[in-house]
Amino acid sequence: MQHKAILFLFLFFAFKTTLTAQPDRWQQRVEYRMDIDMDVSKHQFKGKQQLKYTNNSPDELDRVFFHLYFNAFQPGSNMDVRSLNLPDPDPRVKDRISKLKPDEYGWHKISSLKMDGKPCKFEVNETILEVELPKGIQPNSSVEFEMEFTSQVPVQIRRSGRNSKDGIDYSMAQWYPKICEYDYQGWHANPYVAREFYGVWGDFDVKITIDRKYILGASGILQNGGNIGYGYEPEGTAVRPEKGDKFTWHWRAENVHDFAWTADPDYKHVVLRRKDGLVFHFLYQDKVETRKTWEAAPAQMDKAFDFINKNFGQYPYKSYAFLEGGDGGMEYPMATLLAGKAGIGTFIHEAIHAWYYGLLGSNESLYGWMDEGFTEYATAEVENYLKKERLLGGEPESNSHLEANETMIRFNKSGREEALSIHADHFTNNSAYSVGAYVKGHVLLHQLQYIMGKPVFDKAMLTYFDTWKFKHPNPNDFIRVMEKESGLELDWFKEYFVYTTRTIDYGIKTVEKANRKETRVVLERKGLMPMPLDITVTYKDGKKQVFNLPLDIMRGAKKGTEFTGDKYTVLPDWRWTHPTYEFTLDEKYRNISRVEIDASQRLLDTDRANNAWGKKLDEKEDEED
Ligand SMILES: [Zn+2]
Repeated sequence: MQHKAILFLFLFFAFKTTLTAQPDRWQQRVEYRMDIDMDVSKHQFKGKQQLKYTNNSPDELDRVFFHLYFNAFQPGSNMDVRSLNLPDPDPRVKDRISKLKPDEYGWHKISSLKMDGKPCKFEVNETILEVELPKGIQPNSSVEFEMEFTSQVPVQIRRSGRNSKDGIDYSMAQWYPKICEYDYQGWHANPYVAREFYGVWGDFDVKITIDRKYILGASGILQNGGNIGYGYEPEGTAVRPEKGDKFTWHWRAENVHDFAWTADPDYKHVVLRRKDGLVFHFLYQDKVETRKTWEAAPAQMDKAFDFINKNFGQYPYKSYAFLEGGDGGMEYPMATLLAGKAGIGTFIHEAIHAWYYGLLGSNESLYGWMDEGFTEYATAEVENYLKKERLLGGEPESNSHLEANETMIRFNKSGREEALSIHADHFTNNSAYSVGAYVKGHVLLHQLQYIMGKPVFDKAMLTYFDTWKFKHPNPNDFIRVMEKESGLELDWFKEYFVYTTRTIDYGIKTVEKANRKETRVVLERKGLMPMPLDITVTYKDGKKQVFNLPLDIMRGAKKGTEFTGDKYTVLPDWRWTHPTYEFTLDEKYRNISRVEIDASQRLLDTDRANNAWGKKLDEKEDEED
């Protein structure tokens, strides 16, 4: 009996611990070992991939899928046809794939694939390799895949490819057969149409053999840097190997969900070792037009990382590489590919992806806004901080997120907005996807900052990172952190903001004398989306008072911690069903000079013209009382 009681207590505490500690969401696990032999004369390479795959799901898997991204760069591919049919195609893609010649195509040819030594049946379905397994992979067990393949690097159309506009020889992103993610929502074997990514966390051990004239940059840490002078010298061009036609670069990246690399014979390599031991690598072609940005970047990024570590979570890896390559700015774990002419804003944006794309790793196809939008929010904060530190031109702003609000309101009025919940590949036009993911995702955080109050929100963003890093959070996981940190119910906010395009518009209907001592304020909700309001009342003597008007469905109110200096009062709830709300100010009408909804201008209110009431100068003062 006693024994059982102890066991029960033990189980109880074990259970309780899992409830209060980190959320338990199983993750698949990968360990890649790849040997790549480049033939730069043909832009082709031979690859051997050994992949240890651990199935931590509760399901037996009888099939697996791999991405074969390079196959998108052939006429008639999903990416090609999609681009030809979009009303506003990306100019980098447009009809360029349809015009490729066979020696400019990208392709992967799989010559063999085995699981635990037994051959697998497989079928290449353009950018997805469908694999039937000789035997199911049991829950909580690992198997070893062995694949041999040959690939051709396409002429650069989008992100990866050879001979970028800037003259970078190889931008090697989405370049190897990569197993698709299987999670609690099943397989995510999306054909590649130039949009978003999602991957399994694990370790990459990659050996790239290439003509010795090339200098490489990559995700991960170079294992044989000592041989070739790559690494920790304060500054300078990496020393190329002395002998042989080819050299093998050996990289390792641990606990990442992708691996990218670039190669060019003319890279300049600048190294910055930060105080905390993190090493930055900058690899770029030293050109007059772009030199200024690349030379200023190390000091700026050093400060930026300090700020991001403190405000958005700690970067855990020992290396980060800024690699000239690609066609704009594109994030990869421990590295980014940047066009030579990329501005510092792009450097910052791509670096912050290390947090939202790299470490939180939400399924970007389903929730692109949780990556791009959150990254944009943090970028605005970092840029403002660098302005304050005089490391970036321009005056710092009191709120660097207001422009995002304006863009969003304008775009909504254009009639092209689509709900954030649409799969990234399936928006009907490029602008609906990009404004949604980048701008509305940004504004979503800005709205939460307004609802929760900045001090509470700031802390919640750190908690979100610490709770969900390496776990692929979804919108609900995010909102739950916001709820727990603020003590407010926020499901309604997620429902309206993510699943609909409904808009917010509140107005002041009337401000009038209620009686000899009091003033009556009537507000109206004109938009379909409900929101809590901050109402700032300015009195004749110049004093201000902030009234917070919570929604009944929040089951609580914002703490007044962000309103230092002004008196803060919480009014009774506004029931969301009610189009108007009335409250009484304990002050004579003659002493009220201004009433304003959201003086901070954070609320995404589509019509601000009706947000403020002020006494007209010629308004006759009521002298009776
Ligand atoms: Zn981005």
